[in-house]
Amino acid sequence: MRKPIIAGNWKMHMTIESGKAFVKEVAASLGDTEVEVVLCVPFTLIQPLSTAAEGTPVKIAAQNMHYEDFGAFTGEVSADMLKEVGATYVVIGHSERRQYFNETDETVNLKLKKAHASGLKPIVCCGETLEEREAGTTESVVKRQVEAAFEGISPELAAETVVAYEPVWAIGTGRTATAAQAQEVIAYIRSLVEAKYGDEVSEEMRIQYGGSVKPDNVEEIMNEVDIDGALVGGASLKPDSFLSLVNF
Ligand code: PGA
Repeated sequence: MRKPIIAGNWKMHMTIESGKAFVKEVAASLGDTEVEVVLCVPFTLIQPLSTAAEGTPVKIAAQNMHYEDFGAFTGEVSADMLKEVGATYVVIGHSERRQYFNETDETVNLKLKKAHASGLKPIVCCGETLEEREAGTTESVVKRQVEAAFEGISPELAAETVVAYEPVWAIGTGRTATAAQAQEVIAYIRSLVEAKYGDEVSEEMRIQYGGSVKPDNVEEIMNEVDIDGALVGGASLKPDSFLSLVNF
């Protein structure tokens, strides 16, 4: 049985104060949840929120990292630096980073390797644009992204990697993929993992859906056999909304 993982992606939102209050409120209502609960927060919030989340089920994630250990990379943050301030997870290759910040399949692969080497748990994003979907290339795009991301990654580390399938056309648009559309691509991703690593790894790997997930569609999405969680932007910014996602 794969443990469900619900991750809020705050993007460039929230403050230290609002973030701490959020963690406190959410943690107080979680009880012994069976769900892994992750908040992907801006860099400046990682340390204060990791402290606020100590002793609770809430785990704190970064939204990006650099693949080098240190050096002349102005503005970048390394995996070890994220570990040092308490990050457990790191999001790699989000479509906004691919689109606006030159993230490529190659840098995603380098980051995935470095995250594992540093003991950070990666959430690797993939997904097609609207143009690619309409051109019928969804599977070939996702295949290219997934194969490139996992190049040189061992089966053991692959099994510990979370993949997030996030069709770009569904992110922040209110236009959610139907549960069946999400299931179809996620089952395909699992088949790619099986082809590369065998069925043990593909059965173990958790794959999330992301793109306009909300309290009123999360249950339907989570009911699909291959979908193990959600990566949620807009609907993760309010504690009550986030809690309804966790309690799908
Ligand atoms: P959304 O964002 O839930 O606001 O569509 C999802 C994401 O970008 O991870």
